[in-house]
Amino acid sequence: MSSEPRFVVDTMLGTLARWLRILGYDTVYYKNAEDWLIIRRAELEGRVVVTRDRALHNKAVRSGVRSIYIPDIDMSTRLAYLAVLADIRLHVDFEKTRCPEDNTPLVKVSKEKVRDKVPEAVYRVHDDFWICEKCGKVYWVGSHWRMIEKILSEAREKVKELKFKIAPK
Ligand SMILES: [Zn+2]
Repeated sequence: MSSEPRFVVDTMLGTLARWLRILGYDTVYYKNAEDWLIIRRAELEGRVVVTRDRALHNKAVRSGVRSIYIPDIDMSTRLAYLAVLADIRLHVDFEKTRCPEDNTPLVKVSKEKVRDKVPEAVYRVHDDFWICEKCGKVYWVGSHWRMIEKILSEAREKVKELKFKIAPK
């Protein structure tokens, strides 16, 4: 379908998994999983392992699976890392955004359809809504959006500096 990277994210990086889904990347996240299961899933589905666990990272690499080790750094730097190493985009493409809860691609819906599903105040000021057909959650560009944009713009700034430091030789 597309040549975009797909990910399997380890148990310690739940927030990063949510970010990847918002950015539109197919991301499997296990709350609890043995290393072998994460590696197997990556192997079977051609996913990139993203981990903070050095041992898992080494095992994945030894198994011939692409793996990215994420040091203990803040979220915008983590995203910048993934932009450099896995070429992810650092802006939200609403055509591609997935439900942060369950990885299902969101579907744009007409305003009328969400009338009973969102607070009155939200309904009044917003026109664009997306729904997850799996969990039923409705999304809109709400007050948290400023925070998302801030972190993404920080990440974009960090990319240049990181490219210099960590780009594969
Ligand atoms: Zn959902």
